[in-house]
Amino acid sequence: MTEKSLIDAKFSDIEYNLKAIREDIAEAAIKSGRRPEDIDFMAVTKTVDEMYINHALDCGITLIGENKVQEMLRKKPNLKLDGVRKNLIGHLQTNKATQIVGEVDMIESVDSVKIAKEIGKQSVKKGLVTDVLLEVNIGREESKTGIMPEELDSVLYETAEINGIHICGLMTIPPICEENTELCKFFENIYNMYVDIKSKKIDNVCMDVLSMGMSGDYKTAILEGSNHVRIGSKIFGPRIY
Ligand SMILES: *Cc1c(COP(=O)(O)O)cnc(C)c1O
Repeated sequence: MTEKSLIDAKFSDIEYNLKAIREDIAEAAIKSGRRPEDIDFMAVTKTVDEMYINHALDCGITLIGENKVQEMLRKKPNLKLDGVRKNLIGHLQTNKATQIVGEVDMIESVDSVKIAKEIGKQSVKKGLVTDVLLEVNIGREESKTGIMPEELDSVLYETAEINGIHICGLMTIPPICEENTELCKFFENIYNMYVDIKSKKIDNVCMDVLSMGMSGDYKTAILEGSNHVRIGSKIFGPRIY
């Protein structure tokens, strides 16, 4: 195949995948008593070439996510971002907060009071308020970042006091599960925390976003209450690092 036909083939794969995912999202939304448009669909663009990201944007994607500050900043000028929200979804180091604040619409990966304070500080300096999600390590896995479930309450009350940030909800990546029932349990646990926090009506805490569900589990996540799915490889194919 020529270079051009390879690109065209990948473009049509992306179109096909987006259509299939949108149908799945709509079906799961309706099954769980909501409307398709109640579910925010993020395209996760890490390692993906700008050409393909722009194609997904042409196909109606309005929310993208990147893991790394440097990669996000490098790609941004090459993307057709009119009306498109950009979120950071990977672990943020304190020394990179200054670079990312003001460059994204939301930081979904706030996993400590320390990083929340730094985001707040840099936001105040720039005269902004940054929307954030608290990332919960729902499976209590050593290999993952995120706030331990038993610490969520105390982290929440401490971060709610910080100027320059606004807490909009929770984000999680569950452990890899062999059984769907086991996976459901993790999603259900965080959904319950989300609802519980929402009912407390804490100042500066909104709980509008429950970010969970990736390529392998977005249907289950929606059925368990997610309203924000982050999908990469199912759109763009396997990642090549
Ligand atoms: C990479 C990534 C995703 C997307 O993963 P896929 O399995 O490719 O859909 C979602 N969320 C986070 C935080 C990620 O790092």
